[in-house]
Amino acid sequence: MSVKLFKNGFLIDGTGREPEANVDVLVKDNEIVDVGRNLGENQYDFNWQEAEVMELNGKTIMPGMTEAHTHLTWADSLYIQDIDQKPIEETMVDAILNAEILINSGFTSCVSAAARGRVDIAIKKAINQGRLVGPRMLSNGAEVSASGGFVDLWPNHFQIHGLAIFADGEDAVRRTVRSLYKEGADLVKLNVSGESLSANARGEMTLYTYKEVRAAVEEANARGKRVYTHARSADSVKHCVRAGVHIIGHADFIDDEAFEMLVENKDRLFVVPAMNWLVSTLEHGAEYFGQEALDATGYAEGLEISVRNMNRLYKAGVRVLPGGDYGFAWCPHGGYARDLEHFVKLVGMTPMDAIVAATKYGSEIMLTPEQSGTVERGKWADLLVVDGNPLDDIAILQDKKKLCVVMKDGKFIKNALDSTPVVVLN
Ligand SMILES: [Zn+2]
Repeated sequence: MSVKLFKNGFLIDGTGREPEANVDVLVKDNEIVDVGRNLGENQYDFNWQEAEVMELNGKTIMPGMTEAHTHLTWADSLYIQDIDQKPIEETMVDAILNAEILINSGFTSCVSAAARGRVDIAIKKAINQGRLVGPRMLSNGAEVSASGGFVDLWPNHFQIHGLAIFADGEDAVRRTVRSLYKEGADLVKLNVSGESLSANARGEMTLYTYKEVRAAVEEANARGKRVYTHARSADSVKHCVRAGVHIIGHADFIDDEAFEMLVENKDRLFVVPAMNWLVSTLEHGAEYFGQEALDATGYAEGLEISVRNMNRLYKAGVRVLPGGDYGFAWCPHGGYARDLEHFVKLVGMTPMDAIVAATKYGSEIMLTPEQSGTVERGKWADLLVVDGNPLDDIAILQDKKKLCVVMKDGKFIKNALDSTPVVVLN
């Protein structure tokens, strides 16, 4: 048995409730067994002599966060083609290291939005067995894409299939999706729209038909699984909502009809705009690709449109989650909490709502709302201690030095509180 007591924290519990000062959080094994003021030793049936007690002195204690658009196998590459060409064995090593970076950044859960080969599946298994360090994961497989889409990167005679499987027509989509679920993926990724960094398939283009999207969802539903889509254009989002897609990535160019459809279905779907992809590409794209190529993407206007639409969705109660497509040279792994800052400074969320999106909604997208996402009695002990108040400055969540504790399932991934004097109980 292991007992850990965090004393006098500033509690942001992830439910959206007002924060509270001088709160103790008691963890027994992997569970939060109590949350409250002046938790005393006489209330419990275990031996307090064995408890590890940590004085927080007003530091923030909050739930671990969820990164909802993760690519562990994208290893800070310059071009998508680099991901395609890399030997899978090296990708495996990259992904193992990225899983460590992710959890050490305060994200105790992640939703994969595509991966190469079976890497996600293997890593998730090893993490759950305790053989690797990393977050709780929903795994994914290759990007399922229409021929000529934005991940169809090579001339036809090259025949390289690194990160995508091309499937055209309902039967091919069904066959591909079935094979990915057979491999053990929790989610399948479908690229329904294009992406403007690629010349041949812009984000405004819709590249899968409704029937192809519906075929993928039917195969997912038959197995009790879900589909994650890349959908920037209005029509692609409409296809997704009509077909019953559960997780819609991007959704930037929605029109009024798509907006209404998302709002009507807000209880069963999630939107993950991957906002940092746009922000980081605008910040650094010119260095890598030249100003002309960056301008041609239309991302400057695209970001404005995305921000406007995410603000509408947020105000209408649609669950908009952080997750930023990290894993490229100009938006590298480790920056994940930037999405919360974008939600506050660009989208107009309150800092509290950005945290709820990263924690409570994170547990909902992970399908563990009863077990994770908030600091409440009976929940898994996935906890962060932050030296500072993210409600005053949401950007401190990006500062690894301020992240004193990362705990997953009651175990320390990181604990910088060790040096503080331990309160002796008698
Ligand atoms: Zn992505």
